Amino acid sequence: MLIKPGQRSSAVRDIQRRLIALEYQIAPGELDGRFGDTTFAAIRAFQERRGLVVDGLVGDETWRELVEASWRLGDRTLYLRAPSLRGDDVRALQDRLGALGFDVGRVDGIFGPRTARALREFQANYGIPGDAIVGRSTLRALAGLPALGGETSGAAVREREEMRRFGPGIAGLHVVLDPGHGGDDPGFSGPGGEREDSVAFAIARRLEAVLKASGVIVYPTRESDRAPTDSQRASLANALGADLFFAIHTAGSSDAAANGAITYFFGHERFRSEAGARVAECIHAEILGLGVADAGVHAKQYAVLRETRMPAVQIEPGHLTNAADGARLADDAFQRRLAEAIADGLRTFARSPVAPAQ
Ligand SMILES: [Zn+2]
Repeated sequence: MLIKPGQRSSAVRDIQRRLIALEYQIAPGELDGRFGDTTFAAIRAFQERRGLVVDGLVGDETWRELVEASWRLGDRTLYLRAPSLRGDDVRALQDRLGALGFDVGRVDGIFGPRTARALREFQANYGIPGDAIVGRSTLRALAGLPALGGETSGAAVREREEMRRFGPGIAGLHVVLDPGHGGDDPGFSGPGGEREDSVAFAIARRLEAVLKASGVIVYPTRESDRAPTDSQRASLANALGADLFFAIHTAGSSDAAANGAITYFFGHERFRSEAGARVAECIHAEILGLGVADAGVHAKQYAVLRETRMPAVQIEPGHLTNAADGARLADDAFQRRLAEAIADGLRTFARSPVAPAQ
C-alpha cells in the first residue's frame, strides 16, 4: 500500500480521521478525502514525531503506526498472542509496569513474552489472578497506584546490566548484518547513479570479512538480489538469538548539499535503548574518524530497530545524494576503511559496553 499526495479516496479520509484524533490539523477543504498540502504536512509531522522515515507518504509502516498510535490503554484486552499485539496502549502498559519496578525490557509497544511475564508478576504482587491478561481488574489496579514519575529508569538500568555480558573481546559474538533495501527497492540513488541497496550490500560484504577475521559469527539478512521486509529481517535476527544487529544503509536527502554520517538506535520520547545508543556512539565516532561530516546519532523507531530483541543500530556512513559523500561511499578503498572503522567501533563497545562516567 502506498497513499500519496494528489489522491482522493476513502483510505485518505480514514488517514485524516486518525490524524485529527491525534490532534494534527487538516484544512477543511481537504476533509473530503483529498490528499492535499495540509494532509501531507500532518503526515510528515506524525512521521517525525514517531521516529519514522519522513517522506509524507503513507506506506505500510506509516499506516501501521497510525493504527498503533490510536490505541489507548483500556480500549481492548491485552494479552500474549501471535502475532503480538502492538500499539500505544501496550507502550503505556510497559511504561507503567516499568515505572513500578517490573522488568518489561524495552518500552517498544509490542506485547511479547517479557511483557507478559512482568504483567504476571505485577498481578501476583497486587493480588490479582495471574493470567497475564490486561482486563478490568488489572486496569483498575494499574490506575489506582501512585505515579512514580514518568521515567522508566528501571528498564534503562536493567539494560545497562545486561550489557555487562559483552566483552572484553568481540570473538564469538553473533552479529546480524543487514544491508538495506534490495530487489525492487533501490533505496536512495546518487548523482552518479549509485544505488543505496548495492552500496550497502558492498559495505556489508566487506564488514563481514573483517568481522569474521576477528572470530565474529556473522549472519547476512539477504542475498544481493533479494529484499525481505524489515520485519522479516528483525524476525530472522530474533530467531537466531543474535547478540547484535547492524543495518547498513546510506543517508539521502532532496537537498544535494546535505551530507554526513548518521547512526540510529531504538528510542522514542519515553524510552531509549541504552545498549543501542552505546553501540551507535562507538561506531559513529570511528566513522567520523575517517573524515566524514557528523550528521548525528539519533533515536528512531524503524522496524529493524524496534522489532529486534538485541541491541540494534542502523549505520548510514554518509549521504549518497551528496556528490562528495556519494563518491566516497561507492569507492572500494573507502568501503574497506569503513568496514575496519565499524569493526573498531564494535571493539570499543565490547571493551566498555557502558559509557565511562563523564
Ligand atoms: Zn535506506
